[in-house]
Amino acid sequence: MAYSPPQVETSTASAASPPRCHPEHPLAGAEVVPWPQALGRAIRSPELLCRVLGLPQDVPQARVAQAAQRFPLLVPWEYVRRMQPGRWDDPLLRQVWPAAEEDQPQVGFSADPVADLAARRAPGLLSKYPGRVLLLAATACAVHCRYCFRREFPYGQEPKSLRQFRPALERLAADASVQEVILSGGDPLVRPDAFLAQLVRQLEAIPHLRWLRVHTRLPVLIPQRVCPELLRWLQGVRFRVTVVLHVNHAQELDEQVAQGCEQLCRAGAVLLNQAVLLRGVNDTVQAQEDLCRRLVDCGVLPYYLHQLDRVQGAAHFEVPPEQGQELIEELRRRLPGFAVPRYVQEEPGAEFKRPLA
Ligand SMILES: *Cc1c(COP(=O)(O)O)cnc(C)c1O
Ligand code: SF4
Repeated sequence: MAYSPPQVETSTASAASPPRCHPEHPLAGAEVVPWPQALGRAIRSPELLCRVLGLPQDVPQARVAQAAQRFPLLVPWEYVRRMQPGRWDDPLLRQVWPAAEEDQPQVGFSADPVADLAARRAPGLLSKYPGRVLLLAATACAVHCRYCFRREFPYGQEPKSLRQFRPALERLAADASVQEVILSGGDPLVRPDAFLAQLVRQLEAIPHLRWLRVHTRLPVLIPQRVCPELLRWLQGVRFRVTVVLHVNHAQELDEQVAQGCEQLCRAGAVLLNQAVLLRGVNDTVQAQEDLCRRLVDCGVLPYYLHQLDRVQGAAHFEVPPEQGQELIEELRRRLPGFAVPRYVQEEPGAEFKRPLA
C-alpha cells in the first residue's frame, strides 16, 4: 500500500474540544469590544444574567445570597457566552452565581483563611515564602469568583497609584534574597498597560530581581485583553516571565482564549494554570482530565490544583481531600506526568503550599 502523508489539520478543534458557544445563545454573534469596555459592561445584575441564559427570572430572589451585597455578582459577557443556556448546573455559572448557600454559617470558614493579613509587609506587598513576593498590583477583578479566598480582603488599604507602591518597591530593593515578583491582586490585568509597564520598569531597576510572574484570569474572561500593548511590554521586559492563568473547566477554553495563549507564548511567556477543586464544577475525573488536556492543547501546563481555601461563603464548594487524592491518582493513570497538576493546600503560616497527593 502506498504511503500517504498525514492530513494536515486546518482546524484546531478536536473531538476533545469543549463545546463552542451554543448556536441559539443570544450572545452567539456578539461583537468584540476593546477590553476596557468589556470590563465596564460586565453583567452585575442577577436578573439580567438569568434573562440572558434563559433561566426563570422569578427564581433569583430565592437564590441570590445576601452576601452578594458585600461581594456582588460580576461577570463579563465574554465569559457568559461560554455558559450553556438554561442550566443552573453549568460549571461556569456555578463559579459566579451568588448562591443562597453563601449565607449559611459555616464552622471553620473565616474571612482570611490563608492569613494574608499577617503576611502583609507594606501596602500592596505580601511575603510568605523565601525568594518570592506577591504584589497586589490591582484591587479589582474582571469577575467575582464566589469561592475566592480574597473575597473578604480589605483592599481599601492597598495602593491605587504608582506612587503608593514606593514603600513596597523600597523594601524589595533592600532585600537581595528576593528574586521573583508575582503580580497578583485582584487581577493585575485590569490595570491599563501603561500602568503595568511603568510598575514593571521600576521592578526592572532592582538588580537582584530575575523572574516576573503574573497571576491573572483576564485572558480567560476577556480574551481580547491579550492586546498588542500587553504583548509589547511583556516582550520587552528583561525578566523571565511566567503567566499563571486560572481556569477551572475545559468549557472556559474556547478558540479565542486559545489564540490569546498562543500570543502570550509567542511573546516569550511560560504559561501555567492554577485551578481550584470545586464541587459541582470540576470534581470528577472526567472534568479534570478534559481540563488538563485542553490546557495542554492551548500550550498551558497544569501547575496547581488547589484544595479550597476555607473562606466564609464558599463551604458549598468544598470537596473532601480524600476525593481530590483519588482524582489525582486516576489522572496519573490517564495523563502524562507533565499534564497532572500538583494538588496542594495552603495552610496559614506554612512554609510552602502543602502537597496533598
Ligand atoms: C501562593 C503564593 C506564592 C506563590 O507560591 P508558589 O508555590 O511559588 O507558586 C507566593 N507568595 C504568596 C504570598 C502566595 O500566597
Ligand atoms: S479572579 Fe482571582 S482574585 Fe479575582 S475573584 Fe477570581 S479568584 Fe478571586
